[in-house]
Amino acid sequence: MGLKFIIMKNRVIFFAVIILSIYLFSHPDLNAADGNFPRRPLNIILFIGDGMGVAQVSAAIAVSDNTLVVERFKYAGLCKTSSSSNYVTDSAAAATAVACGVKTKNGMLGMSPDSVSVISIMELAKRNGLSTGVVSTSAVTHATPAGFVAHNAGRGNYEEIALDFLKGTVDVFIGGGSNHFLKRKDGKDLTSDLRKMGYDVVFTLDELMKSSSEKIAGLLDTVHMARSLDNRFGMLESMTAKAVEALSKNKKGFILMVEGSQIDFAGHAQDLDWNISEVLDMERAVDWAFNYAEKSRNTLVVVTADHETGGLALTGGNLIKKSVNGVFATNGHTAVLVPIFSHGPGAEKFTGIMDNTDFFPKFKELLKLK
Ligand code: MG
Ligand code: ZN
Repeated sequence: MGLKFIIMKNRVIFFAVIILSIYLFSHPDLNAADGNFPRRPLNIILFIGDGMGVAQVSAAIAVSDNTLVVERFKYAGLCKTSSSSNYVTDSAAAATAVACGVKTKNGMLGMSPDSVSVISIMELAKRNGLSTGVVSTSAVTHATPAGFVAHNAGRGNYEEIALDFLKGTVDVFIGGGSNHFLKRKDGKDLTSDLRKMGYDVVFTLDELMKSSSEKIAGLLDTVHMARSLDNRFGMLESMTAKAVEALSKNKKGFILMVEGSQIDFAGHAQDLDWNISEVLDMERAVDWAFNYAEKSRNTLVVVTADHETGGLALTGGNLIKKSVNGVFATNGHTAVLVPIFSHGPGAEKFTGIMDNTDFFPKFKELLKLK
């Protein structure tokens, strides 16, 4: 090996090191350890499987023809679900805990136990210039999405909760619940207010898919949407994709909550086929989000539940026939820990045993919200 070659080789290495150092110095968020994900996300997509315990996920894994996308998530954890009033939470108190970081009484939305309004992660994100959205297969006024948008001591006050959507807390909301905006006791048509505020108001999936607006009010059913088993399977994925398309127009980033609402309904009904179908329906939306996170490299995806519903126990099954047997212990909610799966920038923060109030400060820190 000639001296000239060695000098040349050293020079190449020397310049390579200099260039790499300049690159890392000018991109301080890029030198994180986790598979080239930056340290912080620009966007967060949070999935809440209402009533989705570890048993519901296990059953879906057993019967699915494909590997569930949550099995590809790098991190997993468990979450405590109790409310301030009850060991067994309801969805209103649970949504408030996740959205606002505050434990409240069962039945209450966006308020502390003494009925004082508390700020939600959506309101905080909006204040910081991010775009925000909620998507659900229940009415958008139902407890889980409402916990991110509304402030009300009673989760059943749907028409008051609908009024809270006129505050502009979320740029995109898609789900059921048109009755609470249109067929109201006060005779008001809230969709005309929404249009004045710049929302594209749509009532069908077709209309939704054609929308190119940054602000969308998608009221796709009168109250809750149909069961996944009744020709609704796959719609949550389309709704999620459209919400991300709209919200991602904001270069400052976005936070979106997507709810698989009817996992809970099926648990209350103690209907295992429906229960699994709803998990698999949300799974398709999660799969879409996972691929978006892989492509964009700037999006954190977190999948969790507000509580378990039904006390489902898997007592038998056959992995070749892809069948499971299950029994439900209750037609209500239970207090068991629920799963957390996370992937993307900041995903490592959602591991171990968390409390449902821990999401808010972690999201706030990761998105640098003030
Ligand atoms: Mg719900
Ligand atoms: Zn429930």
